[in-house]
Amino acid sequence: MSRYSEFHARSLQQPEAFWREQSELIEWKSPVDRVLDASRPPFARWFPGASTNLCYNAIDRHLPSRADQPALIYVSTETGTEKTYSFAELHREVNRFAAVLLALGVLRGDRVLVYMPMIPEAVFAMLACARIGAIHSVVFGGFASHSLATRIDDARPKVIVSADAGSRSGKAVPYKMLLDQAIELASFAPEHVLMVNRGLAPMALAPGRDVDFAVERRKQWDSKVECAWLESNEPSYILYTSGTTGRPKGVQRDTGGYAVALAASMKHVFGGEAGETYFSTSDIGWVVGHSYIVYGPLLAGMATIVYEGTPIRPDGAIWWRIVEQYRVNVMFSAPTAIRVLKKQDPALLRRHDLSSLKALFLAGEPLDEPTAHWISEGIGKPVVDNYWQTETGWPIIATPRGVEALPAKFGSPGVPCYGYDVRLFDETTGAEVGSNAKGVVAIVGPLPPGCMSTIWGDDERFVSTYWHSVPGRSVYSTFDWGIRDNDGYYFILGRTDDVINVAGHRLGTREIEESISSHPGVAEVAVVGIADALKGQVAIAFAVVRNPAEVADPAARAQMEGEILKLVDSQLGAVARPSRVHFVAGLPKTRSGKLLRRTIQAICEGRDAGDLTTIEDPTALEQVRLALGGRP
Ligand code: ATP
Ligand code: MG
Repeated sequence: MSRYSEFHARSLQQPEAFWREQSELIEWKSPVDRVLDASRPPFARWFPGASTNLCYNAIDRHLPSRADQPALIYVSTETGTEKTYSFAELHREVNRFAAVLLALGVLRGDRVLVYMPMIPEAVFAMLACARIGAIHSVVFGGFASHSLATRIDDARPKVIVSADAGSRSGKAVPYKMLLDQAIELASFAPEHVLMVNRGLAPMALAPGRDVDFAVERRKQWDSKVECAWLESNEPSYILYTSGTTGRPKGVQRDTGGYAVALAASMKHVFGGEAGETYFSTSDIGWVVGHSYIVYGPLLAGMATIVYEGTPIRPDGAIWWRIVEQYRVNVMFSAPTAIRVLKKQDPALLRRHDLSSLKALFLAGEPLDEPTAHWISEGIGKPVVDNYWQTETGWPIIATPRGVEALPAKFGSPGVPCYGYDVRLFDETTGAEVGSNAKGVVAIVGPLPPGCMSTIWGDDERFVSTYWHSVPGRSVYSTFDWGIRDNDGYYFILGRTDDVINVAGHRLGTREIEESISSHPGVAEVAVVGIADALKGQVAIAFAVVRNPAEVADPAARAQMEGEILKLVDSQLGAVARPSRVHFVAGLPKTRSGKLLRRTIQAICEGRDAGDLTTIEDPTALEQVRLALGGRP
């Protein structure tokens, strides 16, 4: 048995001993006595009775050893701002912010909704909530009024923290205006709205309700706020899922289990050390932002980079410039962002000194092999795919480098992380499937520390959504479809409902997409299955090419389509061959960059496209419609 398999086996066979050890990575106010209360499955309560505080562990704990070292490095290519906060400065700002929240009447257990662009105050707000035991609910700044209103009604925040505006590619996004509309739409009304004025857009304050943060901050200049010691299972935050598969779910996270899980992941998965620098290109509105922009790095005593801007402004080398300048050691991004870079000159990847960087982690959607090769060769660093969800808070499947240098396999995020009993089941019989057979990815409970405790305000929906989809079993199912090889490596084939059934053959859309994206001219592709009278379903592909000139006229398009179909034929066989390949300029995605296959499928089948609140760029839908209608 390898070192890692022993480590993993022990985490499942002796979970109490294993997690008791890991719990020593953080500081507790009252010591850990019991490790796990699993008396009410599928609910799991980790470290019941012990108390701790996330903000204390992220900041205060480091003051004796690293008060003057960088904690938060802010880079905005939108406003041209760069500013570094030491742990001592971060401590001061978070104390002021916490005092402002207390003055507005926020109590332990109250919700505070954070609708903010990527500015340091957003991070201060989150940490300030953690400090006083308020539950933050960060809503991604790219969402507009309707999505925001639904979340306001679900979380019922006493206070909303926001800013006048965000900025995207140099254009102001009027947060305050969108927020005012959302409050108008929502049935629940917050008592106060705390506004950070960046001076980017006009900002009218509603008398009695809206408060200017700058004014309040000055009043609290020297305030010190004690950390509230929360019982390990008190909620730290609510975060809504991306909504790729429908109505977003309010994922509720605990406090102690989350702190332990993140601290352990920094050590075993990411290999980040105190004093080093972590750069996650995500947004605080997503789970990666919560775990690996805010809490994870700070818990580990690392500096974290908060970046406002796109990957390609002022040019496609901006991230690598940041890596060089701040000596970034660990970096985290998403395949969708790498595909954006792929349309840029690859020489940009080599312009800067990346010697400090140990590895680039990518998560959020399947990492196709061509993209993985392109980026790992381009930057000359290991690229580590990792698979997880908003629900789990930290990786489910990865290659935990901190335990053992397991070899990477392209196309696979790796092996189950310690604490996760991952299995594959047959979706119709519920039987467990062995190696090299496709099955539904599921986790046998209890879920390890850090995973969601429940759906906010809806225990029933938690149980029915996650624990009842494999027939005859109560296992946590992730709606993802996967396969395991003889070495125990998993390959994620996409969502269970992204499986196409062509004349009785079950094909993952991802397999076909992988094959198509191995064509050198293709930058991005989406494959969906649509109803077909003869075969049940057929595959249709929508491809974005790297060089639009290659599909400028019908003859060129036909040639490219022919090449792609041949490629699929040779790699997967004729059953997998899409009936058409359409060329589009962009694909419909969620705001987090995930493909909305279900929406594309609905359009192809002439159905209503449904809830479009999470869509990034509605014009991409038009593209799909045009492609379908424009070319019979
Ligand atoms: P919703 O649950 O609201 O439909 P969502 O599932 O897209 O939205 P997230 O929690 O952000 O919301 O995403 C988790 C999902 O992303 C996983 O279940 C999986 O489908 C996909 N995913 C994440 N990382 C990977 C990866 N490394 N490889 C393959 N798929 C991944
Ligand atoms: Mg999901």
